[in-house]
Amino acid sequence: MSLKTAIVWFRQDLRIADNPALHHTLENGYAIIPLFILDDENAAQWRRGGARRWWLHQSLGALNGDLREHMVFRVGDAAEMLANLIDETGAVAVFWNRCYEPWQIKRDEAIKSGLSDNGIAVKSFNGSLLWEPWNISKGDGTPYRVFTPFYKRACLEASPPREPLERPARITYADHSANIGALDDLKLMPDVSWYESMSEFWEVGEDDAHKRLNHFLQHGLAGYKGDRNRPDMDNVSRMSPYLTNGEISPHQIWYKARSYAAAHKVPNSDIDSFCSELGWREFSYALLYHFPHVTWDNLQEKFNDFPWKSQDSDDLERWRRGQTGIPIVDAGMRQLWQTGWMHNRVRMIVASLLVKNMLVHWHRGAEWFWDCLVDADLANNSASWQWVAGSGADAAPYFRIFNPVTQGEKFDPKGHYVRKYVPELAHMDDKYLHKPWESTNPPANYPAPIVDLKNSREEALAAFKGIKNLE
Ligand code: FAD
Repeated sequence: MSLKTAIVWFRQDLRIADNPALHHTLENGYAIIPLFILDDENAAQWRRGGARRWWLHQSLGALNGDLREHMVFRVGDAAEMLANLIDETGAVAVFWNRCYEPWQIKRDEAIKSGLSDNGIAVKSFNGSLLWEPWNISKGDGTPYRVFTPFYKRACLEASPPREPLERPARITYADHSANIGALDDLKLMPDVSWYESMSEFWEVGEDDAHKRLNHFLQHGLAGYKGDRNRPDMDNVSRMSPYLTNGEISPHQIWYKARSYAAAHKVPNSDIDSFCSELGWREFSYALLYHFPHVTWDNLQEKFNDFPWKSQDSDDLERWRRGQTGIPIVDAGMRQLWQTGWMHNRVRMIVASLLVKNMLVHWHRGAEWFWDCLVDADLANNSASWQWVAGSGADAAPYFRIFNPVTQGEKFDPKGHYVRKYVPELAHMDDKYLHKPWESTNPPANYPAPIVDLKNSREEALAAFKGIKNLE
């Protein structure tokens, strides 16, 4: 007797282990059709940017290999693509893991009810969050806007995250004669090969996510709390692109890190600090769910009157290209361009320079990150930019304006990070590395600073005080 056929719709869960939708399908005796749909139509403004498209191409290639080349690839409106595939194959069920961007929630709800009305079994699962947003709220039922009580009081005291699911021992594929398409039909790879340095930096796919995690556990977890701010060291996990694309789940990271810490006597402060960073990701998702306008509108409305300077200027282009003349900022922006990733401390510094010293709207920074980051994540990117701008939930206070010189001296004390990404400064004396304009002999091929840090700080403070008075 042939098995019933179910479509497993892969989205931001590009893995086989700990994939609740896949697990459910196999447990319930279905033969599967794995499907990926590139639905730029519904994503509209939030279609994946260039770096993430590059990553997605590599990741789908790896997953399809693991699925013995059974993946079906489609491009277009997801509801239409699913309906077509059901017609072509006689599938009786569709299962997927939930996504949380506002346009995805809206689309998926419509798909769910449309399929159910047509007698197709449909079920969604939690594959990507430790605590889904609707399960965490304050006593009065309203959502949290401050991280610490959200994470410490609500998440940690709620039920523990579910345990990860094992990799299925066997996958049964459905026989069908539908056109399976090809990965290349998605046209994810750019025409110009700007991604070459990125390919050297990353290994993409589910197996590589675990290799990278193991490397971090062995070399970065002990000491993480203190050293996570050091861009000159290799001691953060770099799990973010694997999480964004779902080659690993936060559940797998959470439990593996905790059991490694217990077995290797890693100090509690380090493992707790690492887990609380995963908690920040949960917080961003909760904000996105409860305040879906966080992607574009200031969470604090008083910022709507903030006097941003002109939007598209040469200065913005200099920031994007890492030519601001401020070493730690240029190193970060060039790291982003070359690798599709930037260290968290440096993300905060470059963002602060843009929105505070340069008074450019946070939208411009968020857009550039969206296009350039392999981990571009609508929840984390929106919440983090608003955090730096001061307009978000639990935001950095307006008077917190990072000084990129002291930040550089503190977190890149020997200048290894700056020298790596800004070779013009490779031979600069340590004393002036983070402020070459003070040297009597600055390199001729490196620009003068884009702003005077002291004056621009005062200008920003005055602008922020102005809107504060509007309260
Ligand atoms: P680790 O330090 O190893 O942390 C482990 C995981 O915890 C990360 O992979 C990530 O999922 C989560 N995490 C860590 N820090 C944060 C944080 N501050 N907020 C939310 N989650 C966090 N992160 C993204 O994943 N996508 C983005 O688009 C993004 N945009 C950002 C924009 C700005 C302006 C800033 C300041 C931060 C942004 N972040 C973003 C958050 C953070 O910088 C990255 O998650 C982190 O640098 C990823 O490196 P890692 O995996 O080595 O982090």
